[in-house]
Amino acid sequence: MKPLISIVLFVVLILNVLFKPAYSAGPIRYLNGPIMSGPIPLYIVYYGNQWHSFNQKLIESFLNGVSGTSYWDIAKEYTGFVDESHTKAGKVTGPVKVAKSLNLNATHGVNLNRQNLFTIINNQIHNGRFPEDDKGIYFVLTSKEVAYGDSELVFCEESDRGMCGYHFSFPASGGKKKLKYSFVGDPGHCPATCIRALIDPSLNSRIVRTPNGDTLDSMISVISHELFETVTNPLVNINNAWLDSDGFENADKCQPYFQPLQNKNGASYNLKIGSNLFLVQQIWNPRTQRCELSDGKNPPL
Ligand SMILES: [Zn+2]
Repeated sequence: MKPLISIVLFVVLILNVLFKPAYSAGPIRYLNGPIMSGPIPLYIVYYGNQWHSFNQKLIESFLNGVSGTSYWDIAKEYTGFVDESHTKAGKVTGPVKVAKSLNLNATHGVNLNRQNLFTIINNQIHNGRFPEDDKGIYFVLTSKEVAYGDSELVFCEESDRGMCGYHFSFPASGGKKKLKYSFVGDPGHCPATCIRALIDPSLNSRIVRTPNGDTLDSMISVISHELFETVTNPLVNINNAWLDSDGFENADKCQPYFQPLQNKNGASYNLKIGSNLFLVQQIWNPRTQRCELSDGKNPPL
């Protein structure tokens, strides 16, 4: 069917930039789809057998603190309908908070596909560990041994289907609500492709070392990428909100850029939350129509 094919192509077009960070400088536009407003609870599945609690704590410290930063203020510049029936206008607000996280051994094996992700999330809803919440985002984060691939998307592959993470939605049990989810794999599964591979090469040489290790920092930057895209374009596969004319979402447009960098004890970072340092990519601001790390401030490129 033609519509299905065009949706598939469209999604691939958006996601393949993960391996083709060609800069898309055109303005981002509002296409009438819903955005996510109000508090955004996150439900995290740490899938796989090689998770370390230190890494999980750092990921959660990022996710629990990010909406209090001027980095998040960029997300707050996104306006639009806040409901799927297009009756109420508003803007992205947050706060973002980890409502629940859990560990899951590799019960569905170490080669996941999209159907596995639906099953993993639905199982947690059916057994009462997670609520069914269309105001929240379900993250499935995998550990190093876990691969992902289906006909549309392949974790770590350097091709048009390749990705280091993606976001999508699927119908909740009643069929009407849409649940938003994101997959992010461990960049240690393919260091050559998903660890800092997308950073502007001129910048890469200036990063002495990352604050928490290349693998974890790269994963947190991809998580941030997917978070900003999900809140500003949650129904990517159904009813788009914010995209540019090349089909790029707000994080796709800024993927190679991390400036301005600061330095502490030989580590390069660009965001501080509490006492934790992070190195995250810039996000496109719809008000200023450029990549930024802090709302309204133009970083030196
Ligand atoms: Zn993206």
